[in-house]
Amino acid sequence: MSPTTTGGPARTVGPTHRTWSGAHRWTPAREVRPASADEVAAAVAAAAGEGLRVRAIGAGHSFSPVAVTDGVQLDLERMSGLTHVDHATGRVRVLAGTPLHQLGPLLGAHGLALANMGDIDRQSVGGALATSTHGTGLGFTGYAGMVTGLRLATADGALRWVDTEHEPELFEAARVSLGALGVIVEAELRCVPAFLLEAREQAEPLADVVPPSWSAAAPRTTSSSPGSPARTKQNTRLPLGAGVDPVGAFRSTVMDGILANGVYALMCRAGGQAPRIVPALNRVSAWGVDQRRYRDVSHRVFVADRSVRFREMEYALPLESFEEAFAGLQAVTRDLARRGVLPSFPVEVRAAAADDVWLSTAHGRDSVYIAVHRWHREDPTAYFRACEEVFAGLGGRPHWGKEHTRDAAWAAGAYPRFADFQAVRDAVDPGRVFTNDHLDRVFGA
Ligand SMILES: Cc1cc2nc3c(=O)[nH]c(=O)nc-3n(C[C@H](O)[C@H](O)[C@H](O)COP(=O)(O)OP(=O)(O)OC[C@H]3O[C@@H](n4cnc5c(N)ncnc54)[C@H](O)[C@@H]3O)c2cc1C
Repeated sequence: MSPTTTGGPARTVGPTHRTWSGAHRWTPAREVRPASADEVAAAVAAAAGEGLRVRAIGAGHSFSPVAVTDGVQLDLERMSGLTHVDHATGRVRVLAGTPLHQLGPLLGAHGLALANMGDIDRQSVGGALATSTHGTGLGFTGYAGMVTGLRLATADGALRWVDTEHEPELFEAARVSLGALGVIVEAELRCVPAFLLEAREQAEPLADVVPPSWSAAAPRTTSSSPGSPARTKQNTRLPLGAGVDPVGAFRSTVMDGILANGVYALMCRAGGQAPRIVPALNRVSAWGVDQRRYRDVSHRVFVADRSVRFREMEYALPLESFEEAFAGLQAVTRDLARRGVLPSFPVEVRAAAADDVWLSTAHGRDSVYIAVHRWHREDPTAYFRACEEVFAGLGGRPHWGKEHTRDAAWAAGAYPRFADFQAVRDAVDPGRVFTNDHLDRVFGA
């Protein structure tokens, strides 16, 4: 996978940074690139002493302005790698700046793997945890559900190890915290023995996959564009001894790079000029692009390349509300189509197991995730707002790292442990060192 496509830290233009989608730009007062936990703690203490706010940044891959700061930006890219591996328990400690695409091979060298991953691997460990990043599969939680301990640099300049025995309330709150409680410098993750995945990607009539059959054994991602069939990716777990049959470098370049991403790029550009041809292009991309089966070590199969930039909103809904939510979404796209608005990106459908992480989007309920997208040069407002009305009306919770318009009053009703989270926040960061305008909205000032 090319690091120039889905990857790299927030793209820097002189002192100005922007998010992967390009929707948000900012210029921090100061940038610090600490190389140790002590340097992180010192940077936090110095900023707090000067009355500056602090934001850690990972890869800048959030669609929302959650990482934006006018204060001190702490870039953890120099804090990368494993610090401890416990082969008996499968628990590993990893520095929070480690990109997920490096973590897979690092774990593999120890015969370990993450039980599940999202659909790209450019994020940092700290960023993925902070926003409740997830993959798909009802047998699996998102990344925050794999965390068994965290080392945090807090607003008072201290470094604290937190887990279920040490400051358990702070641990529970910090597993998903949008960086509001401190800087994660190290995380302990529960891993599983390394395994292979066999992926089957194909196009199927939409009616055959809605409602999806959620198999815990072979989780699926389904994506579908208005007026087109669905494309599904189904991953089956196999032991390492089953043997690999990877996507070759040539095939990967042609299929993913030229066809999949290239067709999307064409669709997006053409759709902007002539929206009526979008459904036809959607059909071409769904039926025409790579029907394939391949088998490889898990961290190579979970992820895909995303070279066409887009903006995204994603909601986690109670599993049982999927059909109503999908019907509402179809009504939205029909209504928009009548007004000449035809989103040129597919809708993506995934699922995840319930967990007990206080601000996890799957807290307390098995969840279906529905994501809607628009090409980065198109205004997503009308589409996203209409979809959000449907999803929020069904008790949906927005992905913390993607676009949405929810606020603290809403979050208080959506998350049963929100008041507990706020109490921890008041105790650990009373002066609100770790905030920005976005957090002031979603958590309150
Ligand atoms: C192409 C693409 C594909 C994606 N696919 C998925 C997917 O499959 N599943 C999914 O759930 N999401 C997905 N996302 C969303 C993405 O996983 C999240 O937005 C994630 O937070 C990005 O990680 P990052 O390292 O870029 O964090 P950033 O965007 O840099 O930061 C996100 C938040 O984390 C905080 N943060 C970062 N590091 C730390 C730290 N060390 N300590 C404390 N706080 C910290 C920041 O302050 C900020 O609040 C995708 C995004 C893109 C652009």
